[in-house]
Amino acid sequence: MFNVRVPLSARNEVFLMNTFTDAQLVVSPDVAALLDRLGSEAGERLSEADVEVAGELAEHGFVVESREREREVLNAYFSRFREDTSELRVTVLTTLQCNFACDYCFQGDHGDYNKFAAKMSLETAGRVAEWIEERLDETGAKGFVLTFFGGEPLLNLPVMYELAERAFEACEERGISLRISIITNGLLLTPDVVDRLLPFGLKGIKITLDGDRDTHNRMRPLRGGQGTFDRIVENVRRVANKVAISIGGNFDASSVDSYPALLDFLMEQEFADKLAKVAFKPIIRSSGAAQPKGLIPLTAVSAGGKPLGGTCMTSAGAGSSICDTCNFVDEKMSFLREETQKRGFKTVDGVHMGPCEIHKRHAYTIGPDGALYACPGFTGEPKLSVGHIQKPQEAWQAAAEKKFDVLAAWKQCGDCAYIPVCAGGCSVASQTELGDMNTPTCHKSSFDSALISLAQNSASSLMEITQ
Ligand code: SF4
Ligand code: SF4
Repeated sequence: MFNVRVPLSARNEVFLMNTFTDAQLVVSPDVAALLDRLGSEAGERLSEADVEVAGELAEHGFVVESREREREVLNAYFSRFREDTSELRVTVLTTLQCNFACDYCFQGDHGDYNKFAAKMSLETAGRVAEWIEERLDETGAKGFVLTFFGGEPLLNLPVMYELAERAFEACEERGISLRISIITNGLLLTPDVVDRLLPFGLKGIKITLDGDRDTHNRMRPLRGGQGTFDRIVENVRRVANKVAISIGGNFDASSVDSYPALLDFLMEQEFADKLAKVAFKPIIRSSGAAQPKGLIPLTAVSAGGKPLGGTCMTSAGAGSSICDTCNFVDEKMSFLREETQKRGFKTVDGVHMGPCEIHKRHAYTIGPDGALYACPGFTGEPKLSVGHIQKPQEAWQAAAEKKFDVLAAWKQCGDCAYIPVCAGGCSVASQTELGDMNTPTCHKSSFDSALISLAQNSASSLMEITQ
């Protein structure tokens, strides 16, 4: 069920991948034909050579006992994935305030938004730290991943420092590994901030650049319209030697063509070889806005028309999450991925995408007030909060938690070969676009085109099986 293949015509070979085992092989057309024969209903006697090759294919998961057995194994895999306690992941929104007035975001530094946007207090941060310790003890996790996000998380440094220090102490006491990362617009990123957090386990910072200098300045200005590109790049330059920096970007039809120029610019910088990853995603727009031609109509509002409650729209929700799972996009995504790879930057391959953290019980998102959410994309839907770090769970929160417990949109995906790496798509997209988080949002063609690139890029380094 999970075998996918790409003919490599120039080499007269076939790239085979099993999305469940992640095995990748280059085989002769005879081997691909043998797979077809094995999969067909018509029983036939296999030659000795066939049996030997079939055994090798079975070792890598390309041949299995039966479809029923494969489905059982898939169900067991999703259960294990959900209940996995080896790692605890927590995303903390330190504030919903933001110092940018992004063109595509109706939150941020527009009007009096910041005056009312929530900010985590030090007292709540202390409770979050206690809650994290309880979860570490409850799960017995061997690793802890803490992500700071917002709004703009650097607008609340005291809370970040407090939580990083407390997480570090908790992990030291328990002999647990700690990975801290920050998703920021980069404007307030300084060597001091990085130096302060490095000893506590800061491992990565993700920064957004929305196209080349002019385009970025148009898309991500300050309230007064001033550009932010130069300052962000200067900030990256000052910290790139200290910590891994990933560059993200949000494109739409009006900005996508400026990305090659941004990539050229990045290539020329002395920190180019320090960039851990460069990956771009489409902008999410409110459902009322006209969709740019050629982009999947991602929405930033719930079915009821309510906006995301202040979570940074450059990163939250369908198609543009802080998780790297949400790269479900169209041919523009393939174009940008190829342009990025051409210049030697590491990027996402578009096939190894999921399942995302919403399918993990022990991955949590905490809002500035201490409310708990299943993933960062749902933070704008208070009615889908699954609890609170301090308060007893209310009946409606228990009901929401139940919905996430049984989340399995992939069960409606039939025999799709991408189920292990897609799981039915982004549940936030399903909720916002279809009004039901348990209905798949399918971007299969994106997987297909990403698979072709993956096959072409990996073919030369893969093990070959010929008959
Ligand atoms: S959403 Fe589409 S690509 Fe993803 S598993 Fe379902 S059918 Fe496959
Ligand atoms: S549902 Fe999954 S892919 Fe979508 S925003 Fe949440 S974590 Fe990301």
